[in-house]
Amino acid sequence: MIAEIIAVGTELLLGDVQDTNSTWLSRRLAMLGIAVHHRQTLGDNPTRLKDAVETARSRADIVILCGGLGPTPDDLTKECACEVFGAELTLHEESLLRMRTYFEKSGRVMTDNNKKQAMLPVGATVFQNDHGTAPGCALEKDGKHLLLLPGPPRELKPMFDDAAVPYLLPLTDGVLCSRTVRVFGLGESAAAAAVAPLLDSENPTVAPYAKTGEMYFRVTAHAATEAEAALLCAPMTEELCRILGDAVYGVDVASLEEAVVKGLTAANKTVATAESCTGGLVSERLTSVSGASAVFSCGVTAYSGDVKHARLGVPQAVIDRTGTVSADTACAMARGVRRLADADYGVAVTGAAGPSPCEGKPVGTVFVALSSSEGEFVRPLNLTHRRDRDYIRTVAASHALDMVRVALGGGVPGQAYYGE
Ligand code: ATP
Repeated sequence: MIAEIIAVGTELLLGDVQDTNSTWLSRRLAMLGIAVHHRQTLGDNPTRLKDAVETARSRADIVILCGGLGPTPDDLTKECACEVFGAELTLHEESLLRMRTYFEKSGRVMTDNNKKQAMLPVGATVFQNDHGTAPGCALEKDGKHLLLLPGPPRELKPMFDDAAVPYLLPLTDGVLCSRTVRVFGLGESAAAAAVAPLLDSENPTVAPYAKTGEMYFRVTAHAATEAEAALLCAPMTEELCRILGDAVYGVDVASLEEAVVKGLTAANKTVATAESCTGGLVSERLTSVSGASAVFSCGVTAYSGDVKHARLGVPQAVIDRTGTVSADTACAMARGVRRLADADYGVAVTGAAGPSPCEGKPVGTVFVALSSSEGEFVRPLNLTHRRDRDYIRTVAASHALDMVRVALGGGVPGQAYYGE
């Protein structure tokens, strides 16, 4: 199989933006055993675009275009490529709905011209865009394949790995094997910088991905058999774990909560939760994992100061002196719920998730605490840079889970707390 890459964007020709997509795509295609004989770079000119697609189609089996899928009239990639391939465009309702939801979530208004992005070739395999608005797609006409991908690398890369690779794989000889290394406590940039030389590897490839408040690496190898591909992945996965150390919470686990439930089960220990600003999110995440009933004792959602005092035994004097959003209250909540449930670990969250400050503490001030037979620990979180309620609650809940995970591994889960 031979592929040709066409990068579209006047900014690429002007030299304002470097065409990193083509380099990245070439490496990914090489990993799949797909040869790239030509690459083209073009501006947003319809005549030249159609000529380029025509030429690529005449000499390659797979034509991949990236860029120019935006909503403005000069974004013409899709229209031109589909004309050459003889594919008609039609409104893809599911993509339109996804775009609406994407705009709503980011608090922006979707304009009518965005609908252009949901116009897709009839019969195409649609690649959903989890990091932007423009969906990508692939289609086959007379034995030739056309793939359309968005320009921004942060949209193109996950779309290629998640959707284009499964589309291309049946066209190649061999199989893929993937391992996922999940990381908490290091941002995507810091984690990627720590393992920078590994990111240039071609088979297996190593790709970093961001998730709310955490990140993961996907290690992917291509080989003739599953066993060979797995063998290629193994040393790279080990190397990532060695470099990233305790920040790795699991390999091939689905989530932090799954890692915690598995860890508690293996250690035959139990946990109980006391939650204020997360409103039950920690217990919800724990109980979403099958097998949680053996390790999760109870969850108390205690919003008011009165309930924190009456049900969890937080001393009234602590609430009066430090407020409900404080390290002292968080530790007292963790201690209280651990005692109430007779659990091995008590974990608690209190904070200001917004939209208004709480007791004069700015939105994003959160305290997460853990109580165990080893002692009491607290993580004061400063999430004030993101005044986003969902983000603050998700990250706070993740820290609560992570404290249990670290404690289970014999580490120090936070700052030691010695009492008020
Ligand atoms: P959008 O919806 O953002 O307009 P698009 O698919 O139309 O997406 P472009 O408008 O072509 O994409 O490019 C958007 C941005 O993505 C560019 O300004 C540039 O920063 C980046 N980009 C585009 N093409 C490439 C490329 N080949 N290599 C690296 N970056 C690129």
